[in-house]
Amino acid sequence: MSDAAAIVVCGAAGRMGRLLIGLGREQPDLRIAGAVEVCGHPCLGEDAGAVAAGSPLGVAIADDLARILRPDHVVVDFTGVPDAAIRHAAVAVERSAALVVGTTGFDARQREELCALAPRTRSVVAANFSVGVAVLTELVTLAARLLDRRFEAEIVELHHHSKRDAPSGTALALGRAVAAARGLDFDGDARLAREGMVGARPPEEIGIVALRAGDAVGDHTVVFGGLGERLELVHRAQSRDCLARGALRAARWIVDRAPGLYSMRDVLGL
Ligand code: NAD
Repeated sequence: MSDAAAIVVCGAAGRMGRLLIGLGREQPDLRIAGAVEVCGHPCLGEDAGAVAAGSPLGVAIADDLARILRPDHVVVDFTGVPDAAIRHAAVAVERSAALVVGTTGFDARQREELCALAPRTRSVVAANFSVGVAVLTELVTLAARLLDRRFEAEIVELHHHSKRDAPSGTALALGRAVAAARGLDFDGDARLAREGMVGARPPEEIGIVALRAGDAVGDHTVVFGGLGERLELVHRAQSRDCLARGALRAARWIVDRAPGLYSMRDVLGL
């Protein structure tokens, strides 16, 4: 196993970026090697440690990943801008650096692009880095298999009012897990909104509803509604720490892997 993993945080002044830097600097097996923000951001040139609400780290926030990235670095992207995450992935591939992507909100084309780039280096891509959601996904897969399609699957997610994408990447991933377990086509069977005279619900439909309110970190409920009974599996993130700690764990883990696209399931050895 190598020494401390050197991470470069993209989206360094964001909610997750600050947390990754604040928590990452405390871990002996990690080192904050770089911090990147978008061109024109007011924090450019400032010390990443100070911006993350701590003491200075000696790492200035830069606006060009390609200028600072080295092959022994791990790019950790939480920019929240899919095209930026794809650009950062391309730079990681070009430099043979490892990659951890937490950004969500990719459309089909962007997802395809990321999935083509990521396996060309050592990569972990996850819509949710919490251990609880990884286990929830396993439980949802099991429940979707054990309960027949008459137990209709619906997913409800709740996030803070600043979240840019809807439904959440986690809700979509949970929907994909249901579809995979039941041999359904997620893109064809997912129902992302209902309004008006929608008619009866086909049993194979996978409904996803997004709520936005206040400062909620992220709740996900998967409902399997049968006749006379209902199974609900719920995860609530009480703080972003679990997400940041999971991403840092993934960054440490990916350093010693062979090139390929890995999931949080792989990181946790589930
Ligand atoms: P945020 O808006 O607080 O932070 C994003 C930061 O990225 C901002 O500071 C912004 O200026 C910066 N940024 C934008 N474009 C950039 C670019 N081209 N280069 C460098 N920096 C750039 O958002 P957030 O709440 O921290 O969430 C970020 C993303 O992470 C979202 O997509 C969110 O859904 C996702 N997220 C994922 C997980 C997970 O576990 N996978 C957990 C939480 C959030």
